[in-house]
Amino acid sequence: MSKIYMDNAATTPMDEEVVNEVANLMRNCFGNPSSIHALGREARTHIEKSRKKIAEFLHCSPAEIFFTSGGTEADNMAIRCAVEDLGVKRVITSTIEHHAVTHTVEDLWHRNKIRIQFVEVNSKGQLNLSHLETLLKEDDSPALVSLMHANNEIGTMIDLVEVGTLCKKYNAYFHSDTVQTMGHYPINLKEIPVDFITCSAHKFHGPKGIGFLYIHSNVKIKPLVTGGSQERNMRAGTENIYGIIGLSKAMEVAYRDLTAHQEHIRGIKNHMIQKLKEEIPGVEFNGDISDNSLYTVLNVKFPSTPDSEMFLMKLDILGICASGGSACSSGSNVGSHVLAGIKCAGERPSIRFSFSKYNTKEEVDKVVSVLKGMFEPQIV
Ligand code: PLP
Repeated sequence: MSKIYMDNAATTPMDEEVVNEVANLMRNCFGNPSSIHALGREARTHIEKSRKKIAEFLHCSPAEIFFTSGGTEADNMAIRCAVEDLGVKRVITSTIEHHAVTHTVEDLWHRNKIRIQFVEVNSKGQLNLSHLETLLKEDDSPALVSLMHANNEIGTMIDLVEVGTLCKKYNAYFHSDTVQTMGHYPINLKEIPVDFITCSAHKFHGPKGIGFLYIHSNVKIKPLVTGGSQERNMRAGTENIYGIIGLSKAMEVAYRDLTAHQEHIRGIKNHMIQKLKEEIPGVEFNGDISDNSLYTVLNVKFPSTPDSEMFLMKLDILGICASGGSACSSGSNVGSHVLAGIKCAGERPSIRFSFSKYNTKEEVDKVVSVLKGMFEPQIV
C-alpha cells in the first residue's frame, strides 16, 4: 500500500534537483575546506558560493550567515550566546515555542543565568503584543525576546517587522525561530529588525543535519562550539560541505518556484478544511486557519472517540503519515505543550497534517475518506 505523506512540518522529502547537486559534489569534491591546497580551496569555494547565494535570497551579508547542524543548534547558539556574551538577564518568550527554544531557556533558568517571562497567547496561539510591550517596558535589564515566526504545530504566525520594531524600541535583542518559514516565505532582512534567525534545510526539501544562524552584523557573540577556526571562528568543526551545498540548492529551488508552490499548498490546505467540514461533523481546527496562518500546517481536532490514544497509530496502519504533536516528539506519547499552551489539550484527538508541493487534492480526498470511515458507526 502506498503511503500518503502529510508530515512535512516534521521533515520533507529531498528535491531531486538537490539530490543530484549533492550526489555530484560527493563524487567530485572531497577536500577539507580548511586545507590550503587546490582540493581544499575547491571545497571552500563551494561553501562560500552557497553562503553568498543564501545571503542574496535573504538580503543580508554573507558574513552574517553561520552554518550549523540545523535549527536546534542555531536556536541554542542564539539564545545561549546572547546570555553568555551580550549580558542578557531575562528572556521573554512564549509557552508555545519549539523545544529547541523552550528547553534551552529552561536550562539557562535552572542554572540561574536568566529569568523567564512569558508573553500571553490567546486560544488561537496569537501573541498579545501589548503584553509584550508591558514586559519590555516594566524592566530595563538586558532582554532577549525569542518568538517563533510560525508555529510548527498550529501554524500561528507573528509579524516579524512589528515584533522586531517593538524589541528595538526597548533595546531588547530579538531572536526568531524561522525554521518553518525559511524557504516558504520571502524573508527580507533589510526590512526586518531582528538580531538572530534560524534555518533548517530539511524543512524545505534539503538534507537533514544542516542549517544556519543569521547574526546581525552589529551583534558580537562568541562561538558555542569551540575548536578549529571554521566559520570565521564562530562554529568549530569541519564544514558539512554536502549539507551546505544541498541547503543552498534547496533554497534556490524553493525561492525560484515560491509563488506557484504557495498557491498549490494553500489550495491543498483549504481543500482539506472544506472536505473535513463537509464529511466529519464536529470537526474543529486548532490554532489559526486564516490566510495569515502558515499555509503548510493544518491542526485538526476530531470528535471524541473511544480510542483517541490509538488514533495516530490507526492512521499509520491505514497508510497515512501525520503527526500528533511537534515533529521532534512525534511518536512519543507526551502530550503537546503547544496545545496545552493554548488550553486546547483534552480528550479529543488532535492531528497535525502538514503539506508540501508534492501533495495533491486527490490525496486529501483519500485521507478525508479514511478519516470519515474511522468515525462511522461500526457494524458488528
Ligand atoms: N524549530 C522549529 C520550529 C522546528 O519545527 C524544528 C524541527 O522540528 C526545529 C526548530 C529543529 O530543527 P532541526 O531538526 O534542524 O534541529
